[in-house]
Amino acid sequence: MIKYQGKGVYGAIAVGKISVFKRQDVQVKRVKIEDTSAEIARVKAAKERAIMQIQEIYEKALKEVGEANAQIFEIHMMMIEDDDYNEAIVEMIQGQSVNAEYAVAVTGDNFAEMFSSIDDSYMQARAVDVRDISNRIIACMNNVENESQGLDGKQIICADDLAPSETVSLDKDKVLAFVTAHGSSNSHTAILARNMNIPAIIGVGEQFLSQIKDGDMAIADGFTGEFICNPDEETLSAAKKKLESEAEKKALLQKLKGKENITLDGRKINIYANIGSVDNIGAVLLNDAGGIGLFRSEFLYLENTDYPTEEEQFKVYKRVLESMAAKKVIIRTLDIGADKQAEYFNLDKEENPALGLRAIRLCLSRPEMFKVQLRALYRASVYGRLGIMFPMITSVSELEKIHALCEQVKNELTADHIEYSDSIELGIMIETPAAAIISDKLAPMVDFFSVGTNDLTQYTLACDRQNPYVENFCDTHHEAILRLIEMSAQNAHKHGAWIGICGELAADTTLTETFLRMGIDELSVSPSFVLKVRDVVRKIDLSK
Ligand code: PEP
Ligand code: MG
Repeated sequence: MIKYQGKGVYGAIAVGKISVFKRQDVQVKRVKIEDTSAEIARVKAAKERAIMQIQEIYEKALKEVGEANAQIFEIHMMMIEDDDYNEAIVEMIQGQSVNAEYAVAVTGDNFAEMFSSIDDSYMQARAVDVRDISNRIIACMNNVENESQGLDGKQIICADDLAPSETVSLDKDKVLAFVTAHGSSNSHTAILARNMNIPAIIGVGEQFLSQIKDGDMAIADGFTGEFICNPDEETLSAAKKKLESEAEKKALLQKLKGKENITLDGRKINIYANIGSVDNIGAVLLNDAGGIGLFRSEFLYLENTDYPTEEEQFKVYKRVLESMAAKKVIIRTLDIGADKQAEYFNLDKEENPALGLRAIRLCLSRPEMFKVQLRALYRASVYGRLGIMFPMITSVSELEKIHALCEQVKNELTADHIEYSDSIELGIMIETPAAAIISDKLAPMVDFFSVGTNDLTQYTLACDRQNPYVENFCDTHHEAILRLIEMSAQNAHKHGAWIGICGELAADTTLTETFLRMGIDELSVSPSFVLKVRDVVRKIDLSK
């Protein structure tokens, strides 16, 4: 029995046999060739095959993980058609009379190096993608397929790391869990695993692949991050018990559908869901969420190659509001910048983008762009119960500017004889220590607060949320964070506003009672956590 400790990125447990993911690396050698046109034709044919494969992967991803997550494969298709990339390959074949595989491999490496050297986490992540497409083209030239499709029964897939396309290509029905030597919890693979509801552990360490083999029995515990190879009888039966009890818990949770989120002593709380796209509404309804507590509108912008128009945005917001009928829908205005970048915004490179021109700062510095979104939101408001929420607030003056813009938008709509609801709730995210500290001043200006614990943690503890090296310093239960949340709750209530939490911490059930005791009114979590949080709420007794 060997135990490895990694980081669980999706809480679930798997017991089963290992399948070591074999990337059929083709050894690329430099070969002198005579007929350069024939080599260029080989690249062209391989590229066409690769595009067909990526298209298939994209469609699979659309079905399994939704549009926002599938978007990475659209980027792959764009990259494969990129003029600079293709010209570099052709020039190398012609200029150096080398074989196609070598030209594609070297060009892929050069582009990856170039992306890695850009001081921007989004661009750095593109290095993996360009290597991924180059390997695919080379594999297509050599008729090589990765050994992932022919899995016999469900298995635990172990790999050094998995590219997003590899993750999605795996037959979901045959994957028990993912375990990788490397990776960070914010990597695309981790996000995809979470969205596919597959137990996943990352970062178990380089050595593990040399110590395991196909068919070995293993336990992957996505709750604790523990991966155990060849467990002894006792460990195995304990894991099987845990597995059974998880399955029972899941089945029991289904019985909570339609039940109230109420504590034993009668305190009611709202449990809403976080979404990034209209495609997620099915999951929200299926899991019986009371509303949408965070609709990350920036995905609308990230999915496009140009600013979405007022009409395009209006249609999306209207659809969400209509689908949720009378349930509340809180749409967060554009939170772009830092790790979320879209080229057409032409944002300047910043030394510290997380502390830079992001979210509300960008919107206030581009009021005409911001007003397009506000107009779309106000127009959609007549189709349901809308709340609008503003991210990354740090000051009263920002909120004054927002109010002035909202007034302008309302006046313009009135002048144009366009209807809007007069009961829209306006709120702000508490995701900077500044906002929490001056929450007494901000509360009278809003209907609600929603605590973004992901950023509040990053900014309070000075821990870049994208940086795997500081993950261990990122104590989400840190007293400073809990005090800031409590302070915000007290100030919200003092001024008649309600307060929710929409960051990942809202789903941390070890804190549910603490949040309820602080007076938190709403918890907004990923759809698949709604019933779990409901279950915990229903067992809490606040009178004790
Ligand atoms: C947060 O910061 O907690 C939050 C919900 O916003 P995002 O994760 O989109 O930055
Ligand atoms: Mg945030």
